[in-house]
Amino acid sequence: MPSNHSRATSHITDLLETKTPESLIEQLKPKHHESPPRVPGGTRLTSEALARRWDVLNMDEAQKSIILDQHTFEEREVFQKNIENFIGTVKVPIGLVGPLRVNGLFAQGDYYVPLATTEAALVASYNRGAQVITEAGGCSVALISEGISRAPSFAFRDLSEAGQFVVWAISQLDKFIEVAATTTRHGKLVDMRTTIEGNHVYINFEYITGDASGQNMVTISTEAVCHYIEENSPVKPQYWFIETNMSGDKKANALSFTSVRGKKVTAEVRIPEELVVKRLHTTPDAMVKHSTMGTIASALIGSFGVQGHYANGLAAMFMACGQDVACVAESAIGISRLEIQEDGALYGSVMLPNLMVGTVGGGTSLPSQRVCLEMMGLAGAGKARALAEVCAALTLAGELSINGALSCHQFTRAHQRLARGRHSTAAGEPVAT
Ligand code: NAP
Repeated sequence: MPSNHSRATSHITDLLETKTPESLIEQLKPKHHESPPRVPGGTRLTSEALARRWDVLNMDEAQKSIILDQHTFEEREVFQKNIENFIGTVKVPIGLVGPLRVNGLFAQGDYYVPLATTEAALVASYNRGAQVITEAGGCSVALISEGISRAPSFAFRDLSEAGQFVVWAISQLDKFIEVAATTTRHGKLVDMRTTIEGNHVYINFEYITGDASGQNMVTISTEAVCHYIEENSPVKPQYWFIETNMSGDKKANALSFTSVRGKKVTAEVRIPEELVVKRLHTTPDAMVKHSTMGTIASALIGSFGVQGHYANGLAAMFMACGQDVACVAESAIGISRLEIQEDGALYGSVMLPNLMVGTVGGGTSLPSQRVCLEMMGLAGAGKARALAEVCAALTLAGELSINGALSCHQFTRAHQRLARGRHSTAAGEPVAT
């Protein structure tokens, strides 16, 4: 319920307009009548299993054929390791952004980036930012750090036991590395970080995971390490858990923001003043003024970092390219900055400390997701660092475009036109999301 007095009052009035307090209380009570059928079949993908799942839905053939079209039905086996209780696929449109020129340590060249979204104006906006970056000679991008943790927690009788455990655990890193290595060819345990709180101990086991984003890898490896701990620790934990939020998995948090979770990447571009005016229809001065107020506002609301809309581009790219879209929760934070240089050019940069991306594993081998990675030449082994750099370049494109549109009051008009009106835009027209 809203806590503000007037909003709380109006919320209660709305509720009581059509219902009595007694009926509302009744609605909230647990109900013990017989449940409808459970969804059958688990991971089975036979036509019978699919038919039984559709049977519980009571929908007509026309509705079913939209979700489970012939092609999806025929290729259903490819989804085996990515979904349970499969009933079909949802079609999300993909828009293409590019060329986006990336001068990175790992990504080099002009990229066409696929974005899957249902949000009008998003692709047009990122495309406009990509055009400006490319015409400016591209953005410089550097992957500056990488690592991902799984963080089990251990409970002891008292602080003294917790302390003895930590002393032992710290001495065991080489052994932990050996145990972790038995579960993976590509993941490597490289470090550990301990936190004591009363009689509780948290250990962040830090890995690098090759070209996989690595969440499964680090979970499996850490489980093996925990079993080693159970068997060998001179002080036995009363109980332990493989994870209790300390890794920051799928959560924006200060620890990841100030260190790294996944891949930490920074990107910058210098855009001559004439190009800002020509393509973004604004001025570096207006953009920097907007950016300054944005930075202060971010501090006022207690954001992790300062950025306009990383989540838009990242969610759409993650969706297209088989990344875990929920990781946008941690990936879409960072710092965006704009400045005016001595010659009047605009300097723009982004820094994203938590890009959770991979080019193998997860959803990256599904057919359409794989093709999206192939569009960028970034499918498979040896490409994850380049993918992270392209993500950073893409977010820089998005930041320039949204800031440009907001700084010259074209943000609302672009949405009205693209989301509410016509569906196409002339190249170079101001668009934003
Ligand atoms: P994964 O698909 O579970 O594992 C990656 C696989 O690729 C491993 O079997 C690895 O072999 C193999 N591989 C082959 N070539 C590789 C290369 N060049 N680099 C790295 N690995 C290579 O993927 P994951 O990245 O570990 O996990 C990602 C998935 O976990 C996402 O779908 C995410 O949604 C999900 N997830 C899991 C958890 C969790 O706690 N379990 C939490 C959040 C998300 P080796 O193992 O032999 O190295």
